[in-house]
Amino acid sequence: MNLEELFPYSSFREGQRDLTDSVYESCKNGSRLVVEAMSGFGKTAPVLTGAILAAEEDDNRIIYTCRTKRQVFRVMEEIERIQRKTPLSTTYLFAKNDYCLLKEMSRFPVSQESFKWYCSFNVTNNLCSYFMNISLMNKEVNSLVKEFSSSVRSHSKFLDTCRSTHVCPYEVARLAIANSRVVVTTYHYIFDEASRSILLNNGRWTPAETIVVIDEAHNLRDFMRDASTTELSFAEIELAIKDSRELYMERIESSLVEILRSLSDFCAKNTSWYVEKNSLIEKISGSHDATWLPNIAFELSTCSGVAWQSIATGKNLPTSITRVGDFLRALLSSPGLERTVVAKSDRAMFLIDTDTSSRFLGLVRDYKSLVLLSATINPSDLFLRSIGLDERTRIHKVNPNQTFQARTIIDTGVSTRFKMRTSEMFRKLTGKISAICGAVRGGVGIFVPSYSMLESLRPLLLDLGKSRNLLVEARSLGNAESEEIMRSFKSTPGSVLLAVQGGRFSEGEDFPGEQMDASVVVGLSLPPPSPTMYAEYTQSGFGKHDAYLVISLLPALRKAIQSAGRHMRSPDKRGLVFFLDSRFDDREIIEMFPAWLKQDLHEGDFQRQEIEQMVRDFAL
Ligand code: SF4
Repeated sequence: MNLEELFPYSSFREGQRDLTDSVYESCKNGSRLVVEAMSGFGKTAPVLTGAILAAEEDDNRIIYTCRTKRQVFRVMEEIERIQRKTPLSTTYLFAKNDYCLLKEMSRFPVSQESFKWYCSFNVTNNLCSYFMNISLMNKEVNSLVKEFSSSVRSHSKFLDTCRSTHVCPYEVARLAIANSRVVVTTYHYIFDEASRSILLNNGRWTPAETIVVIDEAHNLRDFMRDASTTELSFAEIELAIKDSRELYMERIESSLVEILRSLSDFCAKNTSWYVEKNSLIEKISGSHDATWLPNIAFELSTCSGVAWQSIATGKNLPTSITRVGDFLRALLSSPGLERTVVAKSDRAMFLIDTDTSSRFLGLVRDYKSLVLLSATINPSDLFLRSIGLDERTRIHKVNPNQTFQARTIIDTGVSTRFKMRTSEMFRKLTGKISAICGAVRGGVGIFVPSYSMLESLRPLLLDLGKSRNLLVEARSLGNAESEEIMRSFKSTPGSVLLAVQGGRFSEGEDFPGEQMDASVVVGLSLPPPSPTMYAEYTQSGFGKHDAYLVISLLPALRKAIQSAGRHMRSPDKRGLVFFLDSRFDDREIIEMFPAWLKQDLHEGDFQRQEIEQMVRDFAL
């Protein structure tokens, strides 16, 4: 089979064949490749095609990682198309919690934090028949594994099949990994030390025989930084004290009271955000001998007796206690780690591993090939340096001349800059948003910088809901609620979506065709100053301006660009993009915009009539 035969569509779009070749070559010669392809270009099919052919020829395996579960399903849709042309063993893998059938029958809703203990308790005590059947029903399990890896089916259908056979779906998925040429999963199976062994120890392929593809790679630095930051709030220690009291753990309770007192005292006497690790450890240890703190930290973090007691008596584990233990253990192992910094704020302590790039390189070093995908890595040299990749890394930029028909409007009359968030500014912002929604007939996506901004704007936009189907993202939406919002938006022409930049609807959710005609990016989501940011700035190793770009500006700009491009999903699409913040009207920022956002650019403080005129002129 060759690349043309494997490609899941009848022909390549402009640029797709070059990308397929590029990925194929990198996977064959074991190099690192960064692909920048604008949103809507259709990069998944060429990347899969190039990587799969190379992997088949050299008997390698592909691990394709995405940021979210929704993105995993998007990749599986392309794989299903490839499977129609050729047999291809493929498995997707989520967290165990997403598969558990036993918890459906639990007397109490099992929290995510308690799930590890819940599963372990039931498996160890032979209380999970779904697990026991994995070894008892060899023939049925083998046939399920074969079925699961040879054809793509929806997650709910897969769970239904396992439910009717009465076997644990997670164990079936884990067994399917062993012989799957392609495994599609989320970031944490590659970047989480505890989870990655599940992939690495399952299967006949070594890392040197594995090709790793990382989607939405512009998120990598932030993802690595967040994953290597441990936070402990004073409120959490207070909760741990209360929880241990309720569980009659008197010794633990008195130790926690002592730890909280020492920490509060230490913070009151030290005004800087920076905390000297050894002094902090000394302060918490007080007059106890050197074994006291490590012993308490171990006891709190494992807390196994309490965990089992909780699960056995039908309660969730009080995770506040284990969280205090995890922080103390990380603190105790940090003094030898130069780049691990302890910082504090008024409400919490933070332990931050600032050496993001070394951690990233350490985790991907042994793989044969690495393919990073993004719609926005500009400036690419800074992107490479921010995750520790050197100039030998190949960059494939999809022809920037191939573009959508987009009109971009930067409105300089408003800003969400913290100091400017007055009621007058909110009034101006809502005036401009309602002018846009009044002029655009099709769907509109409004993307704000934070949930607090969303909550402030929401009541001011209620009038919109009288004439349009107004849908609003909430802080912790479940999958079912998100799907309902998307179903309603996509099935009701002219809907308006109010969502957060960097949230679940601004990345990985596409609005093709006529579903959305305009995106409105309200404000630049620069992160507010924080102790973790100070720690990153001081340890980043970048010059002042580059550090500002890598740590603050580029992450905010990428969120804005991702939001702006939600509706630009195919080369023939016409669409409007509004940036409502004067900070976007800056040469350095505009330079970093992708080409399609610069082709028809208008800047100014536009009044309602001007907005309406610009929309009419563009004639959607
Ligand atoms: S073994 Fe499977 S079904 Fe049983 S508790 Fe664990 S995840 Fe749930």
